[in-house]
Amino acid sequence: MSFFSTRGGACVTASQAILHGLASDGGLYVPAMFPPISRKKLTELAGMDYCQRASTILRTFLEDFSIPEINAAVNSAYAPDKFDDAAIAPLKRLDSGTYVLELFHGPTLAFKDMALQLLPHLTALSARKNGEEREISILVATSGDTGKAALEGFKDVPGTSCTVFYPMDGVSPVQRLQMTTTGGGNTHVIAVKGNFDDAQTGVKRLFASKDFADEMARRGKVLSSANSINFGRLAPQIVYYFSAYADLLRTGHIAVGDEVNFVVPTGNFGNILAGYYARSMGLPIRKLICASNRNNVLTDFFHTGTYSTHRTFFKTASPSMDILVSSNLERLLFEAADRDGELIRVWMNQLRDSGSYSVGEQRMEWLASVFASGFADDMETAREIRARFEQDRYLMDTHTAVASFVLRRYREESGDSTPTVIVSTANPYKFAEDVLAAVAGKDAAAALDAFQCAEKLQELTGVPVPPQVQALRSLPVRHTAQCEKDRMAEAVIGEFDK
Ligand SMILES: *Cc1c(COP(=O)(O)O)cnc(C)c1O
Repeated sequence: MSFFSTRGGACVTASQAILHGLASDGGLYVPAMFPPISRKKLTELAGMDYCQRASTILRTFLEDFSIPEINAAVNSAYAPDKFDDAAIAPLKRLDSGTYVLELFHGPTLAFKDMALQLLPHLTALSARKNGEEREISILVATSGDTGKAALEGFKDVPGTSCTVFYPMDGVSPVQRLQMTTTGGGNTHVIAVKGNFDDAQTGVKRLFASKDFADEMARRGKVLSSANSINFGRLAPQIVYYFSAYADLLRTGHIAVGDEVNFVVPTGNFGNILAGYYARSMGLPIRKLICASNRNNVLTDFFHTGTYSTHRTFFKTASPSMDILVSSNLERLLFEAADRDGELIRVWMNQLRDSGSYSVGEQRMEWLASVFASGFADDMETAREIRARFEQDRYLMDTHTAVASFVLRRYREESGDSTPTVIVSTANPYKFAEDVLAAVAGKDAAAALDAFQCAEKLQELTGVPVPPQVQALRSLPVRHTAQCEKDRMAEAVIGEFDK
């Protein structure tokens, strides 16, 4: 399989796409085609474990990787000492026709582990295949969860380093501690004085800077990306859509060919885009429901066909979705534009120069045939956490609750009764303050720190505090660097010169 750029250029192998991250014309790498998965294959997936499912799906894209290479990578990424559930991505039944796909059983308690436990293996293999002998220096901008997942994935992986930028006041206390206490000799964590979009824009600028690349080359390093724009992040995410469907088949809740919906709490549009790719490969998905928080730029886009960043940025209880520029949307636009890279270039230039673009009536109709969308504000999110706990004894984190609320409203408005999978992206203890406040009222959480909230939540709900959260209480903070948003290059060099 070769890979093209969404801006029209490039024709590279899978390993090159993974190694470069971003195409040289500024576009994102997309597969030349979507390899079809037959009904027969879907039925076979039902009898496989998660690693076998992952290998089956991944090999269709990673054509310059051997099957033994893929198997070895998958088996070490999804090993029992990394994930606390043997199913890796277990599917739980919530009520009749509603399921939860739990993607938070990895080391950092968020769905980012699903991709970032595998990416370092794919990156190391890709470097070898392309004769790259320099250190692969991963640069990441994080809205909270990617940073820790990347640090854990790349920690002490030979021939790599990992530098993470996070928005100084834009992450939860647990998220911050998870990052700043990371061990390993090749990890760096820097707080940016700005919001997530500032951090992401800054990282994109570093990737685009020839001067910065030269400076890194002088130090024997080459930049690579672990952000969700990297196809190596996207590919492992396609797997769990198939896995959820396979589990519904295995348990007899659906028959092969039956349609299901997925509702996905969305920020950078990476997770839900993987669902769209699965659908394009033949997975019977009726609707992909894009759930946003108060930063509802995507809801507006799906309703109006205009993407506009002229809006206020809100900090919400679901910080990993506090994003105004959803990078991966470009890959969906590429499909909406019938793979016309020139048109994507026009839209992206309009976005850069005037903060908005419009896709037009016809393309909007096509988008609406595949995607539904909606949003929940913090109050609705809290109400949803409480309602799900009271109705179903199921404790959700704030991001998952956004999706759950949007599903509720979607069903009311559309009457669509297709079985639906809520994609659950984080363990509730990552956001213990807000989850406790939702379950027990604001007063219950007032004046308590994150750990006290976690303990109280455990008492109230019986859901155990994960050991990774417990451990944060005693781990020393190792990373304290900060920088202005226009001084990120200097901050990276500063870390390397330490
Ligand atoms: C990253 C993240 C999201 C958003 O996923 P995207 O792929 O950026 O759309 C949602 N929830 C949680 C908990 C996350 O960490």
